[in-house]
Amino acid sequence: MSDIIQLLPDSIANQIAAGEVVQRPASAVKELMENAIDAGATTIQVIVKEAGKTLVQVIDNGMGMSETDARMSLERHATSKIRKAEDLFTLHTKGFRGEALASIAAVSQMEMRTRPADEELGTCLVVEGSEVKKQEPVACEKGTSISVKNLFYNIPARRNFLKSNPVELKHVIDEFQRLALAHHDIVFSFIQTDEVVYDLPAGRLSQRIVNIFGKSYQEQLAACQEETNLVKVTGYVGKPDFARKTRGEQFLFVNNRFIRSNYLHHAVMSAFENLLPENSFPFYVLFIEIDPRHIDVNVHPTKTEIKFDDERAIYAVVRAAVRQAIGSHNLTPGIDFNADVNIISKLTLGASQSNDVYFEERFSTPGRSTNQEHWEKLYEQSKNFAPPPPEAQVLRFESSVNKSSEDLAASQEEKVLVQLHLRYIMRQVRSGLMIVDQQLAHERILYEKFLNQLKNKSAESQQDLFPQAVTLSASDFALVLEMEQEIAALGFRLDVFGKNTLLINGVPANLPTGGGKSLFEGLIEQFKINQSDLSIPLKENLARSLAKRAGIRAGQKLVKEEMQAIIDGLFACSTSNYSPDGLPTFFIFELRKIESYFNRQ
Ligand code: ADP
Ligand code: MG
Repeated sequence: MSDIIQLLPDSIANQIAAGEVVQRPASAVKELMENAIDAGATTIQVIVKEAGKTLVQVIDNGMGMSETDARMSLERHATSKIRKAEDLFTLHTKGFRGEALASIAAVSQMEMRTRPADEELGTCLVVEGSEVKKQEPVACEKGTSISVKNLFYNIPARRNFLKSNPVELKHVIDEFQRLALAHHDIVFSFIQTDEVVYDLPAGRLSQRIVNIFGKSYQEQLAACQEETNLVKVTGYVGKPDFARKTRGEQFLFVNNRFIRSNYLHHAVMSAFENLLPENSFPFYVLFIEIDPRHIDVNVHPTKTEIKFDDERAIYAVVRAAVRQAIGSHNLTPGIDFNADVNIISKLTLGASQSNDVYFEERFSTPGRSTNQEHWEKLYEQSKNFAPPPPEAQVLRFESSVNKSSEDLAASQEEKVLVQLHLRYIMRQVRSGLMIVDQQLAHERILYEKFLNQLKNKSAESQQDLFPQAVTLSASDFALVLEMEQEIAALGFRLDVFGKNTLLINGVPANLPTGGGKSLFEGLIEQFKINQSDLSIPLKENLARSLAKRAGIRAGQKLVKEEMQAIIDGLFACSTSNYSPDGLPTFFIFELRKIESYFNRQ
């Protein structure tokens, strides 16, 4: 038999490749805009006609191309962005496959005008179905303008496959919005059949969001910010009240690249748990920054999918970032702990329950991703991310007791619990030393407990042996009567006892400070302060006020069990990292940092 295998001509190979890269006009918009961004442009103009079916043009003021590069750019696998395989793992550009221009040129009539800043004349190239029809010097602006006309003119089947103009335009605008959000420092404009649809000045992300989606977004944004050794999450989420019935305004970026991830979408949704009406979707624009070595973007040609080394860790951080954003905007009404109610209440100070029981109960609650898991996960990450150098694996001399240094470190974790200056609790954790602010941490624990009680009206109260009478001003008395039910849900048992006077028969159970008259007066006082300083809902205010007044203070001596209860309670909270007022509750002094003080790095 004679040989029958032949290499395909470039034009056919390119057409086949185009099938993957260019699906519709929106694909051309995306690829051309990305190239403009990679070329360092500060102004990018996008022009489309008939939803991009007859024209997609992108004009940039970036670095432009030399005559040879202009020609080379149309070859498949021709790229200036990577040179060797390792570069794939340190990618900082949008493109890297060198496929886009070759693919687009294979299935359209393309015209390119380009000029680098240091050359007087630019190059004009006209290409049809991969065939270069014309190449000549041309006077043009610095930068590049590429027009893609009549996409799929030479593949009728693909052209017929395109959807109606409104549908295709929607895809085009989606791509435009994603890139415009990710690059708010670049000026963008979008013109559809001679009409300016978007005109976006360079500015902050929040301004870009408002410029794209409208003024009404101004009040609905809550800022997100969370950082660990592995990953940084920033951006904005929409307040729950503004959630829409339709999907679409959810944007997730990894290293400034738009991605789709049901898994991380779920992380955001779970942070909104119970705050959203059924079947509605919150607005979000979130940016995940991570060392490119921990991701693989080379999964799919259109590059909206991505693989992470440690997806679960990212999930935890995204969730925490969103939770924190919602919390710090006082958006959290009753946080629903469901089965955790009793456990939480036992965890307030004075709890006699042992840790083991607590952990067992926590983890046996089915289907809940707990903060404790998150917390432990964060440790895992820091451990993986910054392994201690071998010489730091101390205590080797103890190996005679037949324990690995890791075991030792683990058992050490349980033992070392120190109160510092009667204000902070120090505890060894895997990544170093954790320092918890006892007052702020306890405030957080009580706040979540009280919110929960207010929601479920499930207060534990303890009888006062000697009921105390409190006389209030007329307005405070009226205020208390107005909130009678809520105050009862916190655990106070009150009876009206003459004019402007109440009798306190019972107080919230299990509080370290006891209760009684001064606590009650403190609650009302704090409630009024919050009312004038903050505009927060009534229940939220009550929970915050009582948490502030009933919590342990700096300066209070704690025994080991109390410290343990605070740490456990804090990390059982739905938002552990911040006090109700938004102050950090703890921080971790990294082992690496400690080592650096001893010049061991
Ligand atoms: P990739 O972006 O993956 O490198 P493309 O086919 O999109 O592949 O582009 C090929 C090359 O053409 C790029 O690597 C770049 O050097 C050059 N190029 C494309 N568009 C532009 C532009 N707007 N400005 C400057 N150079 C460009
Ligand atoms: Mg490209």
